[in-house]
Amino acid sequence: MKPKIAIFSLTGCEGCSLAILELEDQLLDILQAVDIVNFREGMTERSWDIDIGFVDGAVSTPEDEKEVRKFREHSKVLVAIGACACLGGINTLKNHQPMNEYRTYVYGDRADWFPTIDAQPISAVVKVDYELPGCPMVKEEFLRFVKCMLTNRPFRPPANAVCVECKKQGNLCLYEKGIICLGPVTRAGCDAICPSFGSKCEGCRGIVSDEALTAAAVNLREQYDIPLERVLADMRLYGAYQEKTLP
Ligand code: SF4
Ligand code: SF4
Ligand code: SF4
Repeated sequence: MKPKIAIFSLTGCEGCSLAILELEDQLLDILQAVDIVNFREGMTERSWDIDIGFVDGAVSTPEDEKEVRKFREHSKVLVAIGACACLGGINTLKNHQPMNEYRTYVYGDRADWFPTIDAQPISAVVKVDYELPGCPMVKEEFLRFVKCMLTNRPFRPPANAVCVECKKQGNLCLYEKGIICLGPVTRAGCDAICPSFGSKCEGCRGIVSDEALTAAAVNLREQYDIPLERVLADMRLYGAYQEKTLP
């Protein structure tokens, strides 16, 4: 029996679901190994008998809360894909604004038609078995995850920081140019794509570990005289929810 897979979306741009459809070279192989039984963005049929449910998007409305509980109830394994689902992501920017103000700004006098709540990762509402972070998620990591599930091997996310991949690429560190970069505290797995193209890491894969935070605090102070708090202040783009939970 092939595993039955579903791909769901909550509040987000659905770019992570789209990333699956963009796996053009591998999609046919994947479809030989699994049955996709529920995927609003890619098919009309719907089944709720699901082995692995992937969810992109954050819980950002009362409806999202109901939906994610339903996804959990019907999925043997539930996987958060992308920064929105894993961290709350870019949606959490609204958590720092007065709710009435942003609702009125977006919806005007119809604001009451669109109930909202503070944005949060799906793990704040239901148990999540695995997380594939990133904005969007890294397609190669998704493929590695699917292969692990199909071959009953454990899936482990990278345990080091983006800086490790960045240094392997031979990039000049952006701190040398006076640019604050979140690479020292962010989970690797994206091949340091942003600093490799000259942009700072914005932390879309989330904080890697408390150990990385401790090491970064020492290194950044000693090498560049920059306090960790100054670096973490830049986390707000994706990590506003995670920022609140830091020690
Ligand atoms: S993580 Fe990024 S690409 Fe994925 S749904 Fe959220 S905003 Fe879109
Ligand atoms: S540019 Fe960023 S990711 Fe690269 S080594 Fe420097 S701090 Fe780390
Ligand atoms: S370098 Fe940072 S912001 Fe860019 S993809 Fe990797 S984790 Fe995300």
